[in-house]
Amino acid sequence: MSKLIIANWKMNPSTVSQAVKLARAEDKKGVVIAPPFPFLPLVSKVLRKAKLGAQDAFWVPKGAYTGEVSIHQLKTLRVKYVIIGHSERRGLGETDWLINKKIRAALAEDLTVILCVGEPWRVRRKGLAAAKRFVKQQLQKDLKGTDKLTKLKAESLITAYEPVWAIGTGHADRPEGAVEMIKFIKKNLQSKTYNLKSRVLYGGSVTGRNAAGFLKQKEIGGALVGGASLKPSEFKRIIRSL
Ligand code: PEP
Repeated sequence: MSKLIIANWKMNPSTVSQAVKLARAEDKKGVVIAPPFPFLPLVSKVLRKAKLGAQDAFWVPKGAYTGEVSIHQLKTLRVKYVIIGHSERRGLGETDWLINKKIRAALAEDLTVILCVGEPWRVRRKGLAAAKRFVKQQLQKDLKGTDKLTKLKAESLITAYEPVWAIGTGHADRPEGAVEMIKFIKKNLQSKTYNLKSRVLYGGSVTGRNAAGFLKQKEIGGALVGGASLKPSEFKRIIRSL
């Protein structure tokens, strides 16, 4: 399986012309670009090889939900992927209940879900076993009921292991540590409930310098890249290390 690189631009860049320039620079096969909502229409027009992703989506198709964006609206812009449960959204109060609603709605509408899971430092400092328990609980709550969906296929669910302490801190996990957790996540996804042999990525301070260490691991299906995806030269190095 070829590796996938997701560029999560978060709330960047500042202007639409900068977004278009960045999208052109990162328009490569095997890449998913997730810009902020206002830039989706123009980035969608620019991309030839990369696929388009959204950083979130609401689960109700339409109605009085100020500030929300529906899955249907995203699909009209050729969005194929949606990041759900990013730790920055969980930090703003997004619960597993909400995440579960969004995942189920996105799967039902044939979007590929990129579910982010990962433990904060207060858990990790207690050891790997505690971190595994935390991640297992996230998976159970976030994926509750998805096994009943006929649309749940291995390709429609990507999981990103993103230890919260590694996101945006410059302190990436060690590749061996990421592999251990990713094997654990895969074991959970392959359990009788889900029976899914799906892709699991690593995310958390991936850079041009350390990307190869993660991407050469056969268990790691790719990388979710935040900060480094805003710097075309850095992002190119990550892609070159594939
Ligand atoms: C992310 O946004 O999910 C992320 C991993 O960010 P960064 O690469 O900056 O740590």
